[in-house]
Amino acid sequence: MNRRTLLVLGMVAGAASAATVAQETAVRILPGVHVLAAPDETPAVTVTWYGVTTLLFDDGDTQILVDGFVSRPRFEDLDSLAEPDMSRINAMVGSGAFGRVAMITPVHSHFDHAMDVGAVAMATGATVVGSESTANIARGAGVDEARIVVVEERHRQQFGKFAVGLIRSAHAPLVNDGPPIPGTIDAPLTPPARIGDWKEGGSYTIVVEHPAGTALIQGSAGYVEGRLAGTPADVVYLGIGGLGSLGKDHAAAYFEEIVGPTGAQCVVPIHWDDFTLPFGEIAWRGSIYDVEWLHEFAAGQVPAPGLAMLPFGEAVDAFRGCGPS
Ligand SMILES: [Zn+2]
Repeated sequence: MNRRTLLVLGMVAGAASAATVAQETAVRILPGVHVLAAPDETPAVTVTWYGVTTLLFDDGDTQILVDGFVSRPRFEDLDSLAEPDMSRINAMVGSGAFGRVAMITPVHSHFDHAMDVGAVAMATGATVVGSESTANIARGAGVDEARIVVVEERHRQQFGKFAVGLIRSAHAPLVNDGPPIPGTIDAPLTPPARIGDWKEGGSYTIVVEHPAGTALIQGSAGYVEGRLAGTPADVVYLGIGGLGSLGKDHAAAYFEEIVGPTGAQCVVPIHWDDFTLPFGEIAWRGSIYDVEWLHEFAAGQVPAPGLAMLPFGEAVDAFRGCGPS
């Protein structure tokens, strides 16, 4: 089996043939995990995955966007210059995909999550919520201060029928027990900028609540012990980037700390694809062990959640990924 099977879907969401190919490929690269399919009836809230941890929640009136990273710049190293791809962002807004974004929040301020936050906010009028570093990305793009909310430890805010919460968490400890590209962005960041200028700036767990259900999003495979006590959710979108390299003990503790307190009936791995590839090209970047571990960790929970995967660019039920409840 070729784990790096390359899949080119292009930008068009919902194309039946592309979705079918996506599902077949996803099953090959994450064995034993079923792929969510578009339901027959439109659910109350959909989620659409655009790679890495970019997730668009939509209840038909209001859209909540996590990351909004669609530029996917080519780069050599941390000194490479990058800037938002305005033609792609404008296309996403113009097609309606990002047509009603009320709020955008990145899981942290690294480029593969936050580099488009300010540009998308400018194109949509969305409010940007996140760390001071995220605020400086928004300021650098020209976002008005009235549409920037800086979060320290915890924040919860209503947007339409959604209540979106941010809870300070930790990045995956991938370098010297800390994040790669550590530190904060201390002044407005105006692209083009170095890839390494998008510093981590603090990581957050994001909780998307709606009368139809609750989703918890953990973008990076780190945790703060006990931080999510009393945080129920129907579905956990779980970042597994680098999980294999962090070892099984860390992975088990991560699953226990993030999924355990939620009582979720479904866990959906995200941040498993190669973010150095152009938008729409999805290839498995992790290790096969990550997925085998997830099966084992899920089986250890009471009740045991199911595992599911998101297809690229296709709106699926945001809160019932593992089937009707
Ligand atoms: Zn990161």
